[in-house]
Amino acid sequence: MPTEPYVLVVAGALGAMVGSFLNVCILRLPADQSILHPPSHCPRCRAPVSWHDNIPIVSWIVLRGKCRKCREPISLQYPLVEAVTAAMWLAAAWHYGLTLTALTGAAFGTLLLGIAVTDARHYMIPDEYTWGGLGVGLLLALRGGVQGLIAAVVGAAVGFVSLYVVAWAGEKAFGREAMGGGDIKMMTMVGAFVGWKGVLITIFGGALLGTLVFVPLTIKRKRLVPFGVFLAAAAALTFVFGEQILSWYLGFVRGP
Ligand SMILES: [Zn+2]
Repeated sequence: MPTEPYVLVVAGALGAMVGSFLNVCILRLPADQSILHPPSHCPRCRAPVSWHDNIPIVSWIVLRGKCRKCREPISLQYPLVEAVTAAMWLAAAWHYGLTLTALTGAAFGTLLLGIAVTDARHYMIPDEYTWGGLGVGLLLALRGGVQGLIAAVVGAAVGFVSLYVVAWAGEKAFGREAMGGGDIKMMTMVGAFVGWKGVLITIFGGALLGTLVFVPLTIKRKRLVPFGVFLAAAAALTFVFGEQILSWYLGFVRGP
């Protein structure tokens, strides 16, 4: 049954508002600042942002990307994060209808976007996304009853152990910390959303994406590209296409 158009509009608008809040988290969590106080203000002139200048995506376009008071440029990152979050919430409603699975997908995508942007900019993954996201994932897993919850707990455990082993092996092989604790906590959260098979697909996919993008970028720019970004992309793909990837792989292994 196709999703009603008004549901898509509401989902997109809700996503844009969540994206607006995600911007606050992206800005303040790495600096250990409160995400509630003080209210939004211009980082240069400290002028508070009024509600009509704080409408997701729209305000940035109306203000042409500049503070109303001091004309300091406002980063393009703000409307981009809002647009991507809105698109994910809309896509989840479109794909899964008005269901808890849609809410789960939208919440998971939002967490992964927050992780990817923060890890790319600050080389760290705040606990609010990982341990906080783990709580959200376990709660939403209850949509599948006790079995759903058990699958999520097993997924989280496998996520923790696998990345712990990968990090340990990496440290042995390279003689230095190849992966931070944030990646381990992140995969614990991811496991709660995608289950233990999804964890393995995510790690494999993240390593594949990382090798294809990471190695050339690192050599070219001589700077580290954080692994959490690739794990986030792979985790999102796994949530949507995990079953297809798995059956394709098993068919490939077993042969015709
Ligand atoms: Zn200003």
